[in-house]
Amino acid sequence: MTTSAARETTGNAPADEFATRAEQGELALQRCLRCEEWVWYPRPFCPGCGGRDLEWRQTSGRGTVYSFTVLRRPPRGYGDDAPYVLAYVELDEGPRLLTQLVVTGSEPVRVGLPVTAETGAAEDGSAVVRFRPS
Ligand SMILES: [Zn+2]
Repeated sequence: MTTSAARETTGNAPADEFATRAEQGELALQRCLRCEEWVWYPRPFCPGCGGRDLEWRQTSGRGTVYSFTVLRRPPRGYGDDAPYVLAYVELDEGPRLLTQLVVTGSEPVRVGLPVTAETGAAEDGSAVVRFRPS
C-alpha cells in the first residue's frame, strides 16, 4: 500500500463520491431509484425524471469502445503521456464515459473493442479511472 497525498475535493458531493469510490478500486455510478436509469456524470438528480433518490451501484467495469481519437498534441500537463487514446467507452450497463484508453499490446484500437476499467489512486492522490483492452 502506498501513501498518497489527500485528494482535493471539488465541492461537488456526487463527483467527490465517484472519485472516492474509484480510489478504492470501484467503478460505481449512480442509478435512479424512480426510473432505473443510470446517471452519468455524477450529479444530485436524475436527468431522465428529475428524481433525487439516487443510489450508488458498482458496475461490471466492462464495456466496449464506442468512439476514439489519438491525442498527439495533448493539453498542458498531459505531455508525458502523449500520444494517448481518448475514447468513449460504452459500459455494459449503458452509460458512455469519456476516458483514457491505455494501449500496450499490439491489437489496434477499434470501435467495438472490449475493454475493462482500471481504477485506483495516483501518487498525487487523484482518482484514476481509465480502461484497457480486455
Ligand atoms: Zn430517474
